[in-house]
Amino acid sequence: MSNVVSNIELNEPRFLALLEKLIGESKFLQNNPAQGLIPQEDLAIKHILDVLKPYLKENGGVLEAEKVNFVEGRGNLILRYPGTGSEVCSFVGSHLDVVPADPKGWKRDPFKLMIEGDDLYGRGTTDCLGHVAVLTDLLATLGETKPVLKRSIVVVFIANEENGAFKGIGVDQLAKEGYMEQLKNGPLFWIDAADSQPCIGTAGNASWSLKAVGKLFHSGLPHKGINAIEMAMDAVSYIQSKIFAHLCLVCAGT
Ligand SMILES: [Zn+2]
Repeated sequence: MSNVVSNIELNEPRFLALLEKLIGESKFLQNNPAQGLIPQEDLAIKHILDVLKPYLKENGGVLEAEKVNFVEGRGNLILRYPGTGSEVCSFVGSHLDVVPADPKGWKRDPFKLMIEGDDLYGRGTTDCLGHVAVLTDLLATLGETKPVLKRSIVVVFIANEENGAFKGIGVDQLAKEGYMEQLKNGPLFWIDAADSQPCIGTAGNASWSLKAVGKLFHSGLPHKGINAIEMAMDAVSYIQSKIFAHLCLVCAGT
């Protein structure tokens, strides 16, 4: 049975329940080795997998989960909702660690989710555990409703984003060891925010290809031939002008 994809909406109670658990771990997700704070990202992964459990392949569901640890206790998590084709759409960059919070500077307990009306308080609510909870909820909904999609949806939750003191733990090592290769066949959205609100993407990458076909003609009448390289250059420069015009608008804040 397939459902219409546009029906997908956030399951708010499930989202909040997961976010509460994630923020409840945030004390142990603080990342600042100089202060002796080494995050244990596996604590967050456990809660994510608890939510997704009924929809995982090993339990008769459709979601594929791969936990990748380069350091004990500090995992990355790759989740896939398979599509019917070979292309993908990926959401990468939501990280499981947080920057430290000094409770003395907070009016509320930073390591506990506080819900006041529509406002949510707690370390990592937007950067980035809120995004982790949103994407987990999306995957749970996909696992629950099983819409038929041409593209596979891949989510990569990463360890060690907030501090560069140690290498080889998070996305750098995933890329080095080839885990990101599967994402090249489609757009990639980097989902993270350092601001006070959730966002739909902070950066991204869309791969595309252009094929230009020319026309051969006798060398005595070269003006009757069509040079494919010239056509491709014209087309690319037109596309670039559109991209640069858009970037300028973004920079101007309009
Ligand atoms: Zn972040």
